[in-house]
Amino acid sequence: MAPALSDRTMAEPKLQEKTWDPKLEESLLDLWAKEPELYRFAPRTGQSVYVIDTPPPYPSGSWHIGAVMSYSMIDMTARAQRMLGKAVLFPFGLDRNGINIERTVEKKTGKPLHLWDREAFIQECRKEIEVIGNGLLDLARRVGLSADFEHTYFTDSDAYRAFSQAVFLELWPKGLFYRGERPTFWCPHDETPLAEADIEYEDRPSKLVWMRFPLEGGGHLPIATTRPELLGACRAVIVHPDDERFTSAHGKRATVPLVGRDVPVVAHAMAKPEFGSGAAMICSYGDSVDLILFRELRLEPIKAIDEHGRMTEAAGALKGMKLEAAREKAIEELRAHGALEKVEPLQHKTPICSRCHTPIEFISSDAWYLKQLEFREELKKLAAAMEFQPSRHRQLLLDWIDSLTIDWPISRRRYYHTEIPLWTCRTCGEVLAPPPGKYYRPWKDPAPFDACPKCGGKEFVGEDRVFDTWMDSSCSNLYVTGYRRDEAFFESNFPVSLRPQGRDIVRTWLYYTTLKSYLVRRQKPFETVFIHGMGLDARGRAMHRTLGNIIEPWPIVRRYGADAVRFFVASETNPGDDYRISEQKIGGAGKFLTKLWNTARFVSSFPEPRAGKLSPADEWILAELNRLIEEARGAYEELNLFLPSNRARDFLWNLFAPHYVEMVKARAYEGDPGALWTLHTCLRDLLRLLAPITPFSTDLIWREVYGGSVHSETLPLPRDGIPASRLDLTEPVVTFNSEVWKTKRDKGVSLNVELPGVAIPEALKPFEPELRRMHRLA
Ligand SMILES: [Zn+2]
Ligand SMILES: [Zn+2]
Repeated sequence: MAPALSDRTMAEPKLQEKTWDPKLEESLLDLWAKEPELYRFAPRTGQSVYVIDTPPPYPSGSWHIGAVMSYSMIDMTARAQRMLGKAVLFPFGLDRNGINIERTVEKKTGKPLHLWDREAFIQECRKEIEVIGNGLLDLARRVGLSADFEHTYFTDSDAYRAFSQAVFLELWPKGLFYRGERPTFWCPHDETPLAEADIEYEDRPSKLVWMRFPLEGGGHLPIATTRPELLGACRAVIVHPDDERFTSAHGKRATVPLVGRDVPVVAHAMAKPEFGSGAAMICSYGDSVDLILFRELRLEPIKAIDEHGRMTEAAGALKGMKLEAAREKAIEELRAHGALEKVEPLQHKTPICSRCHTPIEFISSDAWYLKQLEFREELKKLAAAMEFQPSRHRQLLLDWIDSLTIDWPISRRRYYHTEIPLWTCRTCGEVLAPPPGKYYRPWKDPAPFDACPKCGGKEFVGEDRVFDTWMDSSCSNLYVTGYRRDEAFFESNFPVSLRPQGRDIVRTWLYYTTLKSYLVRRQKPFETVFIHGMGLDARGRAMHRTLGNIIEPWPIVRRYGADAVRFFVASETNPGDDYRISEQKIGGAGKFLTKLWNTARFVSSFPEPRAGKLSPADEWILAELNRLIEEARGAYEELNLFLPSNRARDFLWNLFAPHYVEMVKARAYEGDPGALWTLHTCLRDLLRLLAPITPFSTDLIWREVYGGSVHSETLPLPRDGIPASRLDLTEPVVTFNSEVWKTKRDKGVSLNVELPGVAIPEALKPFEPELRRMHRLA
């Protein structure tokens, strides 16, 4: 480092605190709370409006650090858009409906939902969600989210539920919903039907059980299955038509062991000769092949598993058992009856519930469906019309739309959800829908009809089922733009400017919102979709309670501060890429903030002149500043946070502090207006450029040094009159300074010792006066 001119007197720095301390952030939170207008959405005439459809988080325990980082990135985008001059509507909501909170209450009280009085259960959920939700809001504020907390919305409020129901009731007359008894994906743990979006696949160990089915006319058919507990629901056996091992069995009947039922042996192309024995039993329902074949072969289903995941009467000796136990028992029974050939271990791609990771079942149940399959082409057109950042992530949505095979089952038999607002006429069975607008609870409210329009009947049965929670959250973009409440605002601000969200909820939240917006408006839901990457643990694994690799956010935020966490995530990852969360790197981000603080403190000890004659060195750093501003603005406009954070760090750490500040120190102490003006200009612009990413430290510095808040400023613009040709000097000056420092180090002399006989390179002639004084070149 260059010499400090300690013999000169300096004015007291305006920045009082000697160093950056994350605890300072808390004093700012109090200030911000007193200045709500700082972030308030109040568009001026002619100002362009930018609406963000913030993901309403689903409170279940506390956020983990990855979630904190995701929301921080959304906040950086909001702040950047604000500082680009737009009026930013940055709403905040909590998605408080759903199974998570119900499970919490069930666990805490040891009393399952079906044993509760419905009203009492709802009250208990409300109490519980209030506490969890408030904890989450505290954290959201603590990490500096500049969202509209004055109007925080909750999806379980009467107002939001009425809204969600109103959207349903608007679509109702269009014939988009139907009710059907059909096999659906079912989570036996959550005891609820699932949509395709709720299912994940995981390789799980299982057993391939080889059995012997006696064959009509003598002999046996070997059959391998992973689901022996479903023998009681077996209606057929299939073999591949080209599989010569089984040609003689075509058209014969086989006897299901333990059950004694005779079933046909069908030659069918869906049989897989390479799997197991090549012959497979068809049961209601082991997998999607069973679903297809029951329909195609017109087999009568047998319900072997009930909604609680227990075996039914149809399972004979297995009745009442849970699935795992039933499977073992079936193997035992087969062995005892001489029908077991062998049991082999098998890795099996198993469909599981994405919420609780229980293997799913197919259970026939009565459900409400929303049509979606027939709109796939239209939805893909909307996906194509939206801008994606990064653009490659559009494919996630397109692939999902292509993969859908069933309509959306939207009904659930739960309590703490939005009710399906329908009644049925007791006399004629007609389903009646009330007018949209009110919050309806058909399980307890009196029916809002005088008489059935079809038969004149006067008695009605309220629907007791509720919506899948995605039915609520898929209305968020309509809700935040004021649909049905402020038509003028809605009409001018729909589609919503930005949907920021994680990759993990493309097939749910993004897809369902696209579907809803299409059905309601025939419009794309968003102008731009920003899909951010996921925060992984240090080994690159997703964070999950079951893996024990969750990083709790509060201790990290208390120790390093929100700005360090935010700077880490901004500078760590390219838009859309996953990132590994490392406490060490968060600490490293803290060191950058210390550097920023120290540099600002030094600059703050000098007065700021209105202008001054610029030296070539001043012009050089201002040319670098211009380049930084241009690149950072462009990046912010494209929702890229990686570039501004890294470029600003490079500018401060590798150019401004070590080279420019050291070169002009002597002039600054002499009060040279050109040097002082340039020092302050660089600091001001750097603070403004970093303000969206590190809102705490930049605002504290700004308030103390310049007064007011940096968050009422706009992003800087490049300055005219600074010759860009000065940029050619960057490389030579960095090289030259480094060489001189190295020479002094090699000689073992202190940096402020005179160094004779060093020639200034030709290219650096414009900097000669500053360089001679900086290095004390004789
Ligand atoms: Zn589940
Ligand atoms: Zn009727």
